[in-house]
Amino acid sequence: MKSPCMANCKNEEGLCSGCYRTMEEIRQWRHYTDHQREQIMQRLSGADASHHCPQCGDATYCGLQAGESDCWCFSVETREKAESGHCLCRRCLSRQPLA
Ligand SMILES: [Zn+2]
Repeated sequence: MKSPCMANCKNEEGLCSGCYRTMEEIRQWRHYTDHQREQIMQRLSGADASHHCPQCGDATYCGLQAGESDCWCFSVETREKAESGHCLCRRCLSRQPLA
C-alpha cells in the first residue's frame, strides 16, 4: 500500500509533522480506497491544488476553496487565521500558534 509516511511522525495538534496528513487521515489510511489515497497524496504534494498558500506560496488544497463543504483542516486543532483569510498549506498551518 502506498503511503506518504516519512517515518518522522510527530503529532502537531492534529497534523503529522513528517507527512502532513491529519491524524484522521492516518487512522483511516488503510480503510481508504486506492483512489482516495491517491487523491490525498496529490493534494499533499500540490499536484492537485485549489490555491496557493498565502504564507509560502506553495500550491495547496483546501476543500472550502475548492467548493466542497468539508476540509481536512476541520479535523486539526484550530490555529490562528492567516491575515489574508485564505487557508494556509498544511506545513504553514502546523507552525501557526494555536488559536
Ligand atoms: Zn504554506
